[in-house]
Amino acid sequence: MCTTQSSLTLNETNEAQMSWCSSCQCYSLVYRSCCASFSRAELRQFQAVLDSLTADKYCYDFLGRPHVTLHSSQAKVGFCLSQADVSVLKKFICEALTIHEAYKIIQS
Ligand SMILES: [Zn+2]
Repeated sequence: MCTTQSSLTLNETNEAQMSWCSSCQCYSLVYRSCCASFSRAELRQFQAVLDSLTADKYCYDFLGRPHVTLHSSQAKVGFCLSQADVSVLKKFICEALTIHEAYKIIQS
């Protein structure tokens, strides 16, 4: 996670925030109590993983509701998401990327 002054918040809700750091060239995603940093390519991969999640992948029972757990290859820390969470994240990341593209056009 980048906490420098060069971090630009792209979009946020009461449970999620996406920001872009022009120094590190990375996106930071905070969703509830989870956080992750991605390069552009890694964020595209994460979007592809979210898109690939079919109903049968939600086989982790958390508080009596089906969730999917997603892990980083670098650490045993990850996201535990319901289908509703995945739907929210997919839309939220698309919105952040659109805002980032608009921001880059305005800046150029
Ligand atoms: Zn940074």
